Amino acid sequence: MSIQLFNTLSGTVEPLAAASGPLRMYVCGPTVYDYGHIGNFRTFLHIDVLRRTLLQQGIKLNHVMNITDVDDKIIRNAAEAGVPIGEYTKKFEQAFFEDMAWLGIQQPEHIARATEHIPEMVHLIETLEKRGYAYKAEDGSWYYRIEKFPEYGKLSKKDLEGIEQGARVDVDEYKDSASDFALWKAPKPGEQSWQTEIGAGRPGWHIECSAMAMKILGETLDLHAGGEDLMFPHHENEIAQSEGATGKPFAHHWMHVRFLLVEGRKMSKSEGNFYTLRDLLLKGYKAAAIRFLLISVPYRHQLNFTFDGLMESTNAIERLRTFHQRMKTGKWAAGSNAEISTQTAHALQEYDAALANDLNTAEARAAIFDLVRSANSAADAGQLLAENASEIVRLLERFDAVFAVLEDKDAETTRAALAWAESAGRIGEATPELLAALSLGDDEVQALVDERTQAKASRNFARADAIRRELLEKGILIEDSKDGTRWKRK
Ligand code: AMP
Ligand code: ZN
Repeated sequence: MSIQLFNTLSGTVEPLAAASGPLRMYVCGPTVYDYGHIGNFRTFLHIDVLRRTLLQQGIKLNHVMNITDVDDKIIRNAAEAGVPIGEYTKKFEQAFFEDMAWLGIQQPEHIARATEHIPEMVHLIETLEKRGYAYKAEDGSWYYRIEKFPEYGKLSKKDLEGIEQGARVDVDEYKDSASDFALWKAPKPGEQSWQTEIGAGRPGWHIECSAMAMKILGETLDLHAGGEDLMFPHHENEIAQSEGATGKPFAHHWMHVRFLLVEGRKMSKSEGNFYTLRDLLLKGYKAAAIRFLLISVPYRHQLNFTFDGLMESTNAIERLRTFHQRMKTGKWAAGSNAEISTQTAHALQEYDAALANDLNTAEARAAIFDLVRSANSAADAGQLLAENASEIVRLLERFDAVFAVLEDKDAETTRAALAWAESAGRIGEATPELLAALSLGDDEVQALVDERTQAKASRNFARADAIRRELLEKGILIEDSKDGTRWKRK
C-alpha cells in the first residue's frame, strides 16, 4: 500500500514510499519561545493526518520532530526574563506538548532538542570544512559557501543569481558572499554559548535540522516536511549542508503545508488576528472543533480561518457524534438493507481513495457526511438494519483513526486549559459559561441529570424543570431522546 503525495522537489504527485524498513520522516518542529499559534498547528495537524493515514495503511514509521530550543528570539526573551534559556524554553516546550495532546496530535517516535545535539552539529561543520563548503570568518562565526553547491535552489526553484541579488548585504560584513548563510554564530557578550572544537558560539538554525535528521535517521530520508515558509531558505540550506557533507540525496520526498490565513489576512499580532490555541480555548471554542477545521481543507490549499468556520466545525462534530451514538446504541431490527450496505461500501472506498490521493481531507470528510445524511434518513424511515449499523460504526471508526474527533474530551481539555489560565494569570479571559461549567464536575452533572430523570418519572415536572434551568445556567445542555438523556457542555 502507498499513498500519493505531492513532492515539492520533483513538482509532481508521487507515491510516498520507504526505501527500506520504516518510513524515515523528519518534520521541522516548533521554536519554543512562545505558545503555539493556530498557523503552527495547521502544519502539525496535517503532519498528523499524514502520520495517521500511513499507519492506517500498515506503513511503519520512524518519525522525528525537532525542538528548536536555542535561537535569537529565545536568547533575547530569556535574557529579558532574566532566566537561563533552558528554563525559559521548558515552559513553552511543555505547553506545546500539552497543546498537541489537546488537539489529538500523536507523538512522533523521536523528539530531538537542538541543545542536546551540539557535538553532532560541530562534527557536521567540521566535515563541511574538510570538503570545502564551510569557512570560518574573522569574528569566529562559520558560514556555508553557497557557490560550492551548484544545485542550491533546486527545492524552491530559485536561481543562485537571484538569491545573491536579493540577499541582504548588511546582515554580516564577515561573510565572503552576501548569500552565504551562518552555520555557527560567534558568541556575543552576555549570550549563552558552547565551547567546542570549532570555537565558542552557538549553532545556526539550519545546521540543527541537518545534524539531528542524519544522526537519527541516516544520511538519506524518505520524507522531510514543514510549513511552506520553510522551503526557502531553511530547507534549501538543509539540503546544501547535508548533501555537501555526504554527497548523497538528503530526502527523496518534500512536503510543505500551505500557510493559514485568518479572516482573509496573514495572521499577525499587529493586525489583531493572531490566535494561539489557548486564546481560542479561553474564548470557549473546543479543541476538537479547531482540529476539525484546521484539517478539513487539504494541506496544499489555502485555509482561511474564520469564527463562522469554527462554529460550522463545532456543529459538524456534534452531528457526527450524535450519529455515531445513534448507530451504536439504536435498536435496529436484524438483517441488512442491501442499498445502505452498498452506500457504506462506497463511502469507505471514497474515503480511502481521497486520503491516498495527496491527503484530500475535504473529500474524505464529504464521503462520510454524505453517508451520515443518507443513513439518518434511512434510519428515520425504519429501513436501517442491525448489520448496516455495525458496518457504519466500523467505517466511522476508520474515519476517526485519522480525523480523531468522535471521542468527546472537550470538558477535560477545557478544564486543563482553565487550570493553565489560572496559573498563568489569564483566567480573566475565560468566558462566563466556561467558568460556570467548571463549577460542576462531570459526576455532579450526571447526578443532577439522574435526579431529573427520576423527577420526571415521578411526574414532579417542577423539579425536573428547575434542574434543567440550573444546568443551563452553568452552561450544560440536556438532550432527551428515546434512547435516554445526554448532556454536554456548551
Ligand atoms: P516555528 O515555531 O515558527 O518554527 O514554526 C513551526 C511550524 O509552523 C513550521 O513548520 C512553520 O512552517 C509552521 N507555520 C508557521 N506559521 C504558519 C502559518 N500561518 N500557517 C501554517 N503553518 C505555519
Ligand atoms: Zn528544520
